[in-house]
Amino acid sequence: MNADLERLIALQKLDNTADAARKQLASEPDHERALEARLEAARQEVAAAKDRVAVNKSARAALEKDVAVQQGRLSKFREQAMAVKTNQEYHAIQHEITFAQTEVKKIEDSILVASLKAAEGKLAAETKAVDADRKTMKTAHSEMEAALERIVAERSSLVGSLDKHVLTTFEAVSRKRNGVAVAEARDGICTICHVRLRPQVFNTVRRNDQIVQCDSCNRILFFVPVKTAAAAADAPQPAS
Ligand SMILES: [Zn+2]
Repeated sequence: MNADLERLIALQKLDNTADAARKQLASEPDHERALEARLEAARQEVAAAKDRVAVNKSARAALEKDVAVQQGRLSKFREQAMAVKTNQEYHAIQHEITFAQTEVKKIEDSILVASLKAAEGKLAAETKAVDADRKTMKTAHSEMEAALERIVAERSSLVGSLDKHVLTTFEAVSRKRNGVAVAEARDGICTICHVRLRPQVFNTVRRNDQIVQCDSCNRILFFVPVKTAAAAADAPQPAS
């Protein structure tokens, strides 16, 4: 293979890897915001459940206070031996006590306490998951930074050994074609722009001995020779 063509293929591979790493790094703030939103939603669920428990508790306390007041009135009646004279009032108070006690039972808060526990459990699980995700993101971040440093070094060495004219072509196409200046030609077609190459162009590309550009997208073309029968038999076969 033409040495410059081989370098261009390597250069494109480096550019693709670097591009993917930069995109990944750029997406980190969005990822972090999404994680924080998950935590915030779980925190709000806990706060809402706590509020419901607190509201319930104060309603319960008010009713219990009412029961106590009525019971106080009852014992006062008993002490003053007025029960017989004011029998009707006595029964009215008893009725009020029964009513208040029933109400207290109605606002039993065990269900609310259980839902608070569930919300707290979910918050704990989300915190754990988000922490793990952040740890993974941090590791990936350092790996990508290191990879980018290596790529910069490898790239400058490759660029240094390239023919200046070939490099200029590569850079011009790369700028124009979203960072992808090299394309494989397969079955007579440029695999990136999918335009069929003229037969004599494809024949030249098949030899991999010179720099040939796609007539349509201008990308620099290379050809991957078909594997020998033995090598193909060893390789896993694609499904289609
Ligand atoms: Zn093309």
